[in-house]
Amino acid sequence: MTAGTGEGRDARRWRAVADRQPIADEPFVYAVATTGIYCRPGCPSRTPNRENVVYFATPAAAEAAGYRPCRRCWPQGADPDDSQTVAVARACRRLETDEAEPALADLAADAGLSAAQFRAVFKDRTGLTPKGYARAVRGHRMRAALEEGATVTEATYAAGYSGSARAHADAPGVLGMTASAYRKGGAGEVIDHATADSALGRVLVAATARGLCGIALGDDDGALLATLWARFPKATLRADGPAAQAVLPVVLRVVADPRQNVAALPEVPLDLRGTAFQLRVWEELRRIPPGETRTYTEVAAAIGQPSATRAVANACGANPVAPVVPCHRVVRSDGGLGGYRWGLERKKALLREEEA
Ligand SMILES: [Zn+2]
Repeated sequence: MTAGTGEGRDARRWRAVADRQPIADEPFVYAVATTGIYCRPGCPSRTPNRENVVYFATPAAAEAAGYRPCRRCWPQGADPDDSQTVAVARACRRLETDEAEPALADLAADAGLSAAQFRAVFKDRTGLTPKGYARAVRGHRMRAALEEGATVTEATYAAGYSGSARAHADAPGVLGMTASAYRKGGAGEVIDHATADSALGRVLVAATARGLCGIALGDDDGALLATLWARFPKATLRADGPAAQAVLPVVLRVVADPRQNVAALPEVPLDLRGTAFQLRVWEELRRIPPGETRTYTEVAAAIGQPSATRAVANACGANPVAPVVPCHRVVRSDGGLGGYRWGLERKKALLREEEA
Protein backbone atom coordinates (compact mmCIF):
# COMPACT_ATOMS: atom_id res chain seq x y z
CA MET A 1 0.00 0.00 0.00
CA THR A 2 1.32 3.41 -0.91
CA ALA A 3 -1.69 5.35 0.32
CA GLY A 4 0.18 6.58 3.39
CA THR A 5 2.91 8.22 1.30
CA GLY A 6 0.34 9.67 -1.07
CA GLU A 7 -1.62 11.34 1.70
CA GLY A 8 1.58 12.71 3.20
CA ARG A 9 2.50 14.23 -0.11
CA ASP A 10 -0.92 15.78 -0.69
CA ALA A 11 -0.88 17.31 2.79
CA ARG A 12 2.56 18.74 2.12
CA ARG A 13 1.44 20.13 -1.22
CA TRP A 14 -1.70 21.63 0.26
CA ARG A 15 0.38 23.40 2.90
CA ALA A 16 2.62 24.77 0.10
CA VAL A 17 -0.45 26.09 -1.73
CA ALA A 18 -2.06 27.58 1.37
CA ASP A 19 1.20 29.21 2.52
CA ARG A 20 2.17 30.25 -1.04
CA GLN A 21 5.55 28.63 -0.39
CA PRO A 22 6.83 26.30 -3.14
CA ILE A 23 8.57 23.15 -1.93
CA ALA A 24 12.21 23.48 -2.92
CA ASP A 25 12.98 20.00 -4.26
CA GLU A 26 9.46 18.96 -5.25
CA PRO A 27 8.19 20.92 -8.23
CA PHE A 28 4.46 20.59 -8.86
CA VAL A 29 1.46 22.58 -10.01
CA TYR A 30 -2.04 22.60 -8.63
CA ALA A 31 -5.29 22.83 -10.53
CA VAL A 32 -8.65 24.04 -9.32
CA ALA A 33 -11.51 21.86 -10.55
CA THR A 34 -14.10 24.65 -10.28
CA THR A 35 -12.14 27.17 -12.41
CA GLY A 36 -10.33 24.82 -14.80
CA ILE A 37 -7.11 26.72 -14.15
CA TYR A 38 -3.78 25.49 -12.85
CA CYS A 39 -1.22 27.47 -10.88
CA ARG A 40 2.20 27.16 -9.38
CA PRO A 41 2.42 27.15 -5.57
CA GLY A 42 3.15 30.74 -4.64
CA CYS A 43 0.52 32.16 -7.02
CA PRO A 44 -0.84 35.40 -5.56
CA SER A 45 -4.43 34.57 -6.54
CA ARG A 46 -7.04 33.64 -3.91
CA THR A 47 -6.44 30.41 -2.03
CA PRO A 48 -8.85 27.82 -3.45
CA ASN A 49 -10.99 25.46 -1.40
CA ARG A 50 -8.95 22.40 -0.61
CA GLU A 51 -11.59 19.96 -1.84
CA ASN A 52 -11.39 21.47 -5.35
CA VAL A 53 -7.62 21.18 -5.68
CA VAL A 54 -5.83 18.55 -7.78
CA TYR A 55 -2.03 18.22 -7.99
CA PHE A 56 0.15 17.47 -11.00
CA ALA A 57 3.88 16.87 -11.19
CA THR A 58 4.27 18.97 -14.33
CA PRO A 59 2.41 21.71 -16.26
CA ALA A 60 2.16 19.28 -19.19
CA ALA A 61 0.25 16.79 -17.03
CA ALA A 62 -2.16 19.51 -15.90
CA GLU A 63 -2.75 20.57 -19.51
CA ALA A 64 -3.24 16.96 -20.60
CA ALA A 65 -5.99 16.79 -17.97
CA GLY A 66 -7.68 19.80 -19.61
CA TYR A 67 -6.57 22.64 -17.32
CA ARG A 68 -5.51 26.06 -18.58
CA PRO A 69 -2.51 27.97 -17.20
CA CYS A 70 -3.16 30.84 -14.78
CA ARG A 71 -2.47 34.29 -16.23
CA ARG A 72 -1.13 35.59 -12.93
CA CYS A 73 1.59 33.09 -12.01
CA TRP A 74 2.24 31.71 -15.50
CA PRO A 75 2.94 28.18 -14.26
CA GLN A 76 3.95 26.67 -17.61
CA GLY A 77 6.86 29.10 -17.66
CA ALA A 78 8.41 27.41 -14.66
CA ASP A 79 11.86 26.40 -15.72
CA PRO A 80 13.17 23.48 -13.69
CA ASP A 81 16.51 23.76 -15.47
CA ASP A 82 17.87 26.75 -13.63
CA SER A 83 21.48 25.74 -14.03
CA GLN A 84 21.45 26.72 -17.70
CA THR A 85 20.09 30.19 -16.95
CA VAL A 86 22.74 30.63 -14.28
CA ALA A 87 25.41 29.52 -16.78
CA VAL A 88 24.11 32.04 -19.33
CA ALA A 89 24.14 34.82 -16.72
CA ARG A 90 27.74 33.93 -15.89
CA ALA A 91 28.68 34.02 -19.58
CA CYS A 92 27.02 37.46 -19.91
CA ARG A 93 29.12 38.79 -17.03
CA ARG A 94 32.27 37.43 -18.75
CA LEU A 95 31.30 38.98 -22.07
CA GLU A 96 30.81 42.28 -20.26
CA THR A 97 33.99 42.29 -18.19
CA ASP A 98 36.70 40.13 -19.83
CA GLU A 99 39.52 42.13 -21.37
CA ALA A 100 39.37 40.13 -24.61
CA GLU A 101 36.12 38.64 -25.93
CA PRO A 102 35.98 35.05 -24.59
CA ALA A 103 35.83 32.32 -27.25
CA LEU A 104 32.55 30.48 -27.70
CA ALA A 105 34.30 27.18 -26.90
CA ASP A 106 35.49 28.68 -23.61
CA LEU A 107 32.05 29.87 -22.58
CA ALA A 108 30.52 26.53 -23.57
CA ALA A 109 33.09 24.55 -21.57
CA ASP A 110 32.40 26.77 -18.58
CA ALA A 111 28.70 25.86 -18.85
CA GLY A 112 29.47 22.18 -19.39
CA LEU A 113 27.88 22.18 -22.84
CA SER A 114 29.02 21.74 -26.42
CA ALA A 115 29.51 24.95 -28.41
CA ALA A 116 26.35 24.34 -30.42
CA GLN A 117 24.25 23.55 -27.34
CA PHE A 118 25.58 26.57 -25.49
CA ARG A 119 24.89 28.90 -28.41
CA ALA A 120 21.28 27.63 -28.57
CA VAL A 121 20.73 27.94 -24.81
CA PHE A 122 22.29 31.41 -24.75
CA LYS A 123 20.09 32.56 -27.61
CA ASP A 124 17.03 31.07 -25.96
CA ARG A 125 17.65 32.98 -22.70
CA THR A 126 18.86 36.33 -24.04
CA GLY A 127 17.42 36.58 -27.54
CA LEU A 128 20.95 37.16 -28.83
CA THR A 129 23.86 34.94 -29.80
CA PRO A 130 27.01 35.21 -27.65
CA LYS A 131 28.60 37.12 -30.55
CA GLY A 132 25.62 39.44 -30.81
CA TYR A 133 25.74 40.02 -27.08
CA ALA A 134 29.47 40.83 -27.20
CA ARG A 135 28.75 43.24 -30.05
CA ALA A 136 26.02 44.91 -27.98
CA VAL A 137 28.40 45.28 -25.03
CA ARG A 138 31.04 46.90 -27.24
CA GLY A 139 28.44 49.24 -28.71
CA HIS A 140 27.27 50.21 -25.26
CA ARG A 141 30.83 50.98 -24.16
CA MET A 142 31.47 52.95 -27.32
CA ARG A 143 28.37 55.08 -26.82
CA ALA A 144 29.36 55.65 -23.21
CA ALA A 145 32.90 56.67 -24.20
CA LEU A 146 31.62 59.02 -26.91
CA GLU A 147 29.27 60.66 -24.46
CA GLU A 148 32.15 61.14 -22.04
CA GLY A 149 33.75 63.22 -24.79
CA ALA A 150 36.21 60.67 -26.19
CA THR A 151 37.19 60.87 -29.85
CA VAL A 152 35.88 58.14 -32.12
CA THR A 153 39.32 56.49 -32.19
CA GLU A 154 39.64 56.54 -28.41
CA ALA A 155 36.10 55.26 -28.04
CA THR A 156 36.78 52.48 -30.53
CA TYR A 157 39.63 51.13 -28.42
CA ALA A 158 37.90 51.81 -25.11
CA ALA A 159 35.02 49.69 -26.34
CA GLY A 160 37.31 46.74 -26.98
CA TYR A 161 37.28 46.81 -30.77
CA SER A 162 40.53 45.55 -32.20
CA GLY A 163 40.43 48.29 -34.80
CA SER A 164 38.22 50.83 -36.44
CA ALA A 165 37.26 48.55 -39.34
CA ARG A 166 35.44 46.23 -36.97
CA ALA A 167 33.83 49.16 -35.15
CA HIS A 168 32.49 50.51 -38.42
CA ALA A 169 31.18 47.12 -39.45
CA ASP A 170 29.34 46.92 -36.15
CA ALA A 171 28.25 50.52 -36.00
CA PRO A 172 24.78 50.59 -37.55
CA GLY A 173 23.65 47.75 -35.33
CA VAL A 174 25.26 48.63 -32.04
CA LEU A 175 25.03 52.38 -31.94
CA GLY A 176 21.34 52.32 -32.57
CA MET A 177 20.74 49.29 -30.42
CA THR A 178 17.46 49.71 -28.63
CA ALA A 179 14.28 47.74 -28.43
CA SER A 180 14.82 46.34 -31.91
CA ALA A 181 17.82 44.31 -30.74
CA TYR A 182 15.50 42.32 -28.54
CA ARG A 183 12.84 40.09 -29.85
CA LYS A 184 9.41 41.62 -29.55
CA GLY A 185 7.46 41.03 -26.38
CA GLY A 186 10.29 39.22 -24.67
CA ALA A 187 9.96 36.05 -26.77
CA GLY A 188 12.66 33.57 -25.83
CA GLU A 189 13.59 35.51 -22.72
CA VAL A 190 13.47 34.47 -19.11
CA ILE A 191 12.40 37.33 -16.84
CA ASP A 192 12.65 36.79 -13.11
CA HIS A 193 10.41 38.69 -10.75
CA ALA A 194 9.98 39.05 -7.02
CA THR A 195 7.81 41.16 -4.73
CA ALA A 196 8.27 42.63 -1.27
CA ASP A 197 6.82 45.20 1.11
CA SER A 198 8.13 48.77 1.21
CA ALA A 199 7.27 52.20 2.52
CA LEU A 200 5.52 52.84 -0.83
CA GLY A 201 3.45 49.66 -0.70
CA ARG A 202 4.19 46.47 -2.60
CA VAL A 203 7.23 46.52 -4.88
CA LEU A 204 7.74 44.18 -7.82
CA VAL A 205 11.17 43.94 -9.42
CA ALA A 206 11.83 42.23 -12.74
CA ALA A 207 15.25 41.30 -14.03
CA THR A 208 16.90 39.37 -16.81
CA ALA A 209 20.38 37.90 -16.81
CA ARG A 210 21.44 41.31 -18.17
CA GLY A 211 20.05 43.37 -15.32
CA LEU A 212 17.07 45.13 -13.80
CA CYS A 213 14.36 45.63 -16.44
CA GLY A 214 11.29 46.60 -14.44
CA ILE A 215 9.95 47.97 -11.18
CA ALA A 216 6.27 48.29 -10.35
CA LEU A 217 4.74 49.92 -7.28
CA GLY A 218 1.22 49.28 -6.03
CA ASP A 219 -0.99 47.58 -3.54
CA ASP A 220 -1.70 44.21 -5.12
CA ASP A 221 0.87 41.65 -6.29
CA GLY A 222 -1.47 40.33 -8.95
CA ALA A 223 -1.91 43.78 -10.50
CA LEU A 224 1.84 44.37 -10.43
CA LEU A 225 2.51 41.06 -12.13
CA ALA A 226 -0.11 41.99 -14.74
CA THR A 227 1.90 45.10 -15.71
CA LEU A 228 4.93 42.88 -16.26
CA TRP A 229 2.87 40.42 -18.22
CA ALA A 230 1.58 43.25 -20.41
CA ARG A 231 5.11 44.43 -21.18
CA PHE A 232 6.55 41.00 -21.91
CA PRO A 233 3.65 38.83 -23.08
CA LYS A 234 5.96 36.31 -24.74
CA ALA A 235 8.61 36.00 -22.07
CA THR A 236 8.94 33.19 -19.58
CA LEU A 237 8.13 34.91 -16.29
CA ARG A 238 9.71 33.17 -13.34
CA ALA A 239 8.64 33.92 -9.78
CA ASP A 240 11.46 34.49 -7.29
CA GLY A 241 14.14 33.72 -9.87
CA PRO A 242 17.79 34.44 -9.07
CA ALA A 243 18.12 37.59 -11.20
CA ALA A 244 15.25 39.26 -9.33
CA GLN A 245 16.45 38.05 -5.94
CA ALA A 246 19.84 39.59 -6.70
CA VAL A 247 18.52 43.10 -7.35
CA LEU A 248 15.56 43.16 -4.94
CA PRO A 249 17.51 44.27 -1.81
CA VAL A 250 19.12 47.18 -3.66
CA VAL A 251 15.82 48.33 -5.14
CA LEU A 252 14.24 48.21 -1.68
CA ARG A 253 17.11 50.33 -0.39
CA VAL A 254 16.46 52.93 -3.09
CA VAL A 255 12.71 52.94 -2.41
CA ALA A 256 13.41 53.45 1.29
CA ASP A 257 16.01 56.13 0.62
CA PRO A 258 15.78 57.58 -2.90
CA ARG A 259 18.87 59.73 -2.28
CA GLN A 260 21.04 56.66 -2.90
CA ASN A 261 23.18 57.08 -5.96
CA VAL A 262 22.25 53.95 -7.86
CA ALA A 263 24.43 54.87 -10.80
CA ALA A 264 27.35 54.11 -8.49
CA LEU A 265 26.04 50.69 -7.49
CA PRO A 266 27.60 48.14 -9.83
CA GLU A 267 25.40 45.37 -8.44
CA VAL A 268 22.44 46.87 -10.28
CA PRO A 269 23.12 46.63 -14.00
CA LEU A 270 20.15 47.98 -15.93
CA ASP A 271 18.52 46.20 -18.83
CA LEU A 272 16.52 49.10 -20.24
CA ARG A 273 14.56 48.81 -23.43
CA GLY A 274 13.36 51.89 -25.16
CA THR A 275 13.76 54.08 -28.19
CA ALA A 276 17.03 55.99 -28.57
CA PHE A 277 15.18 59.10 -27.42
CA GLN A 278 13.78 57.44 -24.30
CA LEU A 279 17.19 56.02 -23.37
CA ARG A 280 18.68 59.51 -23.74
CA VAL A 281 16.01 60.99 -21.44
CA TRP A 282 16.39 58.24 -18.83
CA GLU A 283 20.14 58.77 -18.80
CA GLU A 284 19.63 62.49 -18.27
CA LEU A 285 17.27 61.79 -15.34
CA ARG A 286 20.06 59.87 -13.61
CA ARG A 287 22.19 63.03 -13.67
CA ILE A 288 19.70 65.02 -11.55
CA PRO A 289 21.15 65.09 -8.03
CA PRO A 290 18.94 63.76 -5.22
CA GLY A 291 17.00 66.51 -3.48
CA GLU A 292 16.82 68.61 -6.67
CA THR A 293 14.17 68.78 -9.36
CA ARG A 294 14.16 69.77 -13.02
CA THR A 295 11.29 70.79 -15.23
CA TYR A 296 10.37 68.78 -18.33
CA THR A 297 11.53 71.81 -20.35
CA GLU A 298 14.92 71.81 -18.64
CA VAL A 299 15.41 68.12 -19.36
CA ALA A 300 14.46 68.69 -23.01
CA ALA A 301 17.08 71.46 -23.20
CA ALA A 302 19.68 69.30 -21.47
CA ILE A 303 19.41 66.58 -24.11
CA GLY A 304 19.68 69.18 -26.87
CA GLN A 305 16.04 69.04 -27.96
CA PRO A 306 14.50 72.13 -26.35
CA SER A 307 11.21 71.80 -28.22
CA ALA A 308 10.63 68.21 -27.10
CA THR A 309 9.06 68.99 -23.71
CA ARG A 310 5.99 66.85 -24.38
CA ALA A 311 8.09 63.92 -25.62
CA VAL A 312 10.26 64.20 -22.50
CA ALA A 313 7.18 63.99 -20.31
CA ASN A 314 6.07 60.89 -22.20
CA ALA A 315 9.51 59.31 -21.83
CA CYS A 316 9.36 60.00 -18.07
CA GLY A 317 5.98 58.29 -17.96
CA ALA A 318 7.42 55.29 -19.83
CA ASN A 319 10.37 54.93 -17.43
CA PRO A 320 10.28 51.21 -16.56
CA VAL A 321 12.48 51.35 -13.46
CA ALA A 322 11.23 54.21 -11.28
CA PRO A 323 12.56 55.23 -8.80
CA VAL A 324 15.98 53.78 -9.74
CA VAL A 325 15.82 56.05 -12.78
CA PRO A 326 14.50 59.05 -10.82
CA CYS A 327 11.71 60.43 -13.02
CA HIS A 328 10.09 61.67 -9.79
CA ARG A 329 12.65 64.51 -9.89
CA VAL A 330 10.99 66.03 -12.95
CA VAL A 331 8.13 68.48 -12.40
CA ARG A 332 6.14 71.01 -14.41
CA SER A 333 7.37 74.56 -15.11
CA ASP A 334 4.27 76.02 -13.44
CA GLY A 335 5.18 74.35 -10.16
CA GLY A 336 2.78 71.45 -10.62
CA LEU A 337 4.06 67.98 -9.85
CA GLY A 338 3.27 66.54 -13.27
CA GLY A 339 2.29 62.90 -13.42
CA TYR A 340 3.65 59.68 -11.99
CA ARG A 341 3.07 56.21 -13.33
CA TRP A 342 2.54 54.80 -9.83
CA GLY A 343 0.41 57.64 -8.43
CA LEU A 344 1.16 61.21 -7.36
CA GLU A 345 1.15 60.24 -3.69
CA ARG A 346 4.20 58.09 -4.29
CA LYS A 347 5.93 60.88 -6.23
CA LYS A 348 5.27 63.28 -3.33
CA ALA A 349 6.54 60.74 -0.81
CA LEU A 350 9.80 60.24 -2.77
CA LEU A 351 10.41 63.98 -3.08
CA ARG A 352 9.64 64.48 0.61
CA GLU A 353 12.07 61.72 1.52
CA GLU A 354 14.81 63.38 -0.53
CA GLU A 355 14.26 66.76 1.08
CA ALA A 356 14.50 65.31 4.56
ZN1 LIG B 1 -1.89 31.30 -10.59
